[in-house]
Amino acid sequence: MTKPVVSIVKYSDPDHSLREALRLCDGLRFFNKSDKILIKPNLVSWDFEVPFSPFGVVTTSALIFALVQILVEEGFSRISIGEGPVKVPKTIGARLFKTLGYEKLERRYGVELVDFNEDKFETRDFGDFKLSIARKALEADKIINVPVLKTHTQCKVSLGIKNLKGCINQKSKIICHGKENILDHTFPRLADQLPLALTIIDGVFMLEKGPLQSGKAYRKNLLIASRDVYACDLVGSALLGYDVGEVPHLKFFAESHHRSTELKDIRVEGENIEDHRTHLPYTWEWAEDNTGPMDFKKHGIKGLAVRRYDSTLCTGCSFHFSPMVFMLLSAFKGKTNPSVEVITGKIQEAAEGFDRTVLFGNCAISLNKNNPKISKAVPVKGCPPDLVNFEKIMKDEGINCDYSEYVRYREHVFNRYKEKDEFETGLYLM
Ligand code: SF4
Repeated sequence: MTKPVVSIVKYSDPDHSLREALRLCDGLRFFNKSDKILIKPNLVSWDFEVPFSPFGVVTTSALIFALVQILVEEGFSRISIGEGPVKVPKTIGARLFKTLGYEKLERRYGVELVDFNEDKFETRDFGDFKLSIARKALEADKIINVPVLKTHTQCKVSLGIKNLKGCINQKSKIICHGKENILDHTFPRLADQLPLALTIIDGVFMLEKGPLQSGKAYRKNLLIASRDVYACDLVGSALLGYDVGEVPHLKFFAESHHRSTELKDIRVEGENIEDHRTHLPYTWEWAEDNTGPMDFKKHGIKGLAVRRYDSTLCTGCSFHFSPMVFMLLSAFKGKTNPSVEVITGKIQEAAEGFDRTVLFGNCAISLNKNNPKISKAVPVKGCPPDLVNFEKIMKDEGINCDYSEYVRYREHVFNRYKEKDEFETGLYLM
């Protein structure tokens, strides 16, 4: 049997390195000049109010610009770029495309920019669940998938297959994080519905404890490309330090497609995996008694129990999870009263013995509305909740959370990258 080919190329400049990565995996082999091509970067989120570090979080614009340039030179003219970023609470696609300079691609080459959240979706039945997929993605002749080389607190790695989740609507994303469905058994099935022709993993940066800006980025300077999304993910995952057997959604994909989980069954062209393999932690260390991140211990915090997020927490609430923890930290400077438990997602049930139980988000409120173990419920409504409202609700309870503490943390993270030459914002803001 012919082995799938994956190229690994050192990144020196976007144009040259991408051409080499495509050449080594013969990436454009089955593309026809008349094809409608959809480029799907990872633009999961951005923050316009607080300093945002894009490194390892979103696809570098320099790579997208180089890809469009190459496609145009090769004679392709029907090109669009599509993404369905997190809605918090409104979609940010148009603003994000503008920030990243994508409008130049629109003006220069007629590239169509599509925020899937504002376009049409078609529902597909997967038997045990249904997902609504962006029509633009279904109607494309070829999709070029451009994820980032990153870890993920819920899925361990977020690469080509995971990036497809950005093609479904908000309701379907919630279904993927449903308590009835196992997250790792939902989104991988999108790969069977979409005309996925090429995957290019942007490894200019890689991210530990991803997928959002609360993770830590490193410069990696690699591109990984293949016409086979699973093979590409297998290599990307190995570079981050994870075998397929350790990554539930890749394992599920391998089993359901009768694919080998062995690297020896892939032909790697270019760089050696072993020369670039690393191991990045995918999640935060949590206290054994599930009372919060290990940092709580460092800060001497007692009487506060933030339960560890699980796979039912969708990206909307995940986006606010770290800020919420930072805000709580700001309120508990050595004080232990009142004692507070924080519940999130769709399956966490409140425990006994706390003065207040914060139910963060509509899901936690709904599940725990009749929970007799709760002394006093503090519901923070929203899907996801709003942090300004969270601050107000907590202050009403005598818990002086301070959003500006979180902003200071974000400034600190932003400045940490700013001081290092390898973290070039120019790779994003074109
Ligand atoms: S409340 Fe949060 S976890 Fe529940 S559906 Fe909304 S975003 Fe998802």
